[in-house]
Amino acid sequence: MIKPTEEIIIIGAGAAGLIAARELSKQYKVTVLEAAATTGGRIKTIYHNGAKAAEKGAEFVHGELPITLGLLNEAGLKYHLVNGQMFRVSNGKWTAEYEMITNWDQLLEQMENVPEDMTMQQFLDQHYPQEQYAQLRKNIQGFVQGFDLADITKVGIKYLLNEWANESEKNFRIEEGYTAMTDFLTTICRKQQCEIITNTTVTAVEWSAGKVNVRAANGQSWSANKLVVTIPLGVLQKKTIAFTPAIPAYISAANDIGWGTVIKTILQFKTPFWEKHAQQIAFILSDAPIPTWWTQVPEKAYILTGWLGGPPAVPYIGQTDEQLQELALISLANIFNETVDTLKDLLVDCHISNWATLPHVTGAYSYGTPASVNALTVLHTPIENTIYFAGEALYNGTSPGTVEAALSTGEAVAAKIKETLS
Ligand SMILES: Cc1cc2nc3c(=O)[nH]c(=O)nc-3n(C[C@H](O)[C@H](O)[C@H](O)COP(=O)(O)OP(=O)(O)OC[C@H]3O[C@@H](n4cnc5c(N)ncnc54)[C@H](O)[C@@H]3O)c2cc1C
Repeated sequence: MIKPTEEIIIIGAGAAGLIAARELSKQYKVTVLEAAATTGGRIKTIYHNGAKAAEKGAEFVHGELPITLGLLNEAGLKYHLVNGQMFRVSNGKWTAEYEMITNWDQLLEQMENVPEDMTMQQFLDQHYPQEQYAQLRKNIQGFVQGFDLADITKVGIKYLLNEWANESEKNFRIEEGYTAMTDFLTTICRKQQCEIITNTTVTAVEWSAGKVNVRAANGQSWSANKLVVTIPLGVLQKKTIAFTPAIPAYISAANDIGWGTVIKTILQFKTPFWEKHAQQIAFILSDAPIPTWWTQVPEKAYILTGWLGGPPAVPYIGQTDEQLQELALISLANIFNETVDTLKDLLVDCHISNWATLPHVTGAYSYGTPASVNALTVLHTPIENTIYFAGEALYNGTSPGTVEAALSTGEAVAAKIKETLS
């Protein structure tokens, strides 16, 4: 196919960058520059002897999400529904839970009746200040931190309502691993002569209307007519890439959106000792230092995954993998009333996933604040039809912080560019 002279550079080969590259490289010359050694970004399946061993990044498809499931079907990848039961463990007592938070519907209704957006902290202070709601406030804070990775003093009610009210009961896991999906996109891009260059950290962008010059840390540079920036929000906030002329309104908008982190600990054991406590455990919520855990049901993998998210994760970011493994075992000993030594004897393998320590990621995913609506309006406005932004944090639909969110913004930015070029 003869390609028009228009050249496009995409920074970042995560879900957003890859799907945009696939679309745009059908018609234009596209170069993708990626800091990491592999494509996929925050999607990172670990394989052992060719089989999925662990998901260090994204793991679930949270609902019947059209772009993600569409891609999986197109790629011929299999996925299955996560079943099982959720439990809350408090002071050694196990109770089956059917709602993350008691009186969930009533809570959503109250959030809906708030006329002006406010933070969750302000909402709790106004609506649930009394002592009788202490447990409810604690549960809401735990859920906001764990699920949304958010700080309750910053996260917006409207953002949470939009997500929570549309949350699906169904979660899916990809049998071949999430990476199989981004590998599928990578292969198509390359077939379409899109150049994907890994191990290349972009440090500077010089631009004028219709022209960009992009420089990498290794001294190499590339020129194009348009640039799509898909780096994680935390990287954009840190101004790791120097733009000349500067783009202060865009950096300020990025800083108005919340950026959360998580430490994910994936532990493989010789036996599923947790089945002594209950059959078909899917999720466990607890007061342990790493509070949230899940199994791989219905898969027969002897794996427990711990999730320490939001502000409580921050003090642990600097810890070594050995220290975090110890914290995980202490948490499990607490939940299952075992000794750490017993669990150590049963332990086969451990993967620690601490994305905040990776300079080209710096965290896990974004969350909305009361200032996000205006911030997104800025970030969705291309700079002189030359610089465009995409990526999970730019999404404003009902599945924020997900792979679907990233894919959706990648598709949207490609459509916008094609429209201006048509
Ligand atoms: C631990 C964890 C668990 C998660 N669980 C789920 C889940 O279960 N389900 C779900 O749907 N989502 C989940 N997510 C969120 C999901 O992974 C992300 O929303 C999605 O993958 C983001 O895609 P993206 O393309 O926007 O960004 P990224 O995947 O981060 O891609 C951006 C790319 O830019 C690159 N980059 C950064 N700086 C530079 C630079 N200067 N030069 C060149 N390249 C650069 C990065 O290396 C990265 O590859 C999880 C995320 C984490 C971290």
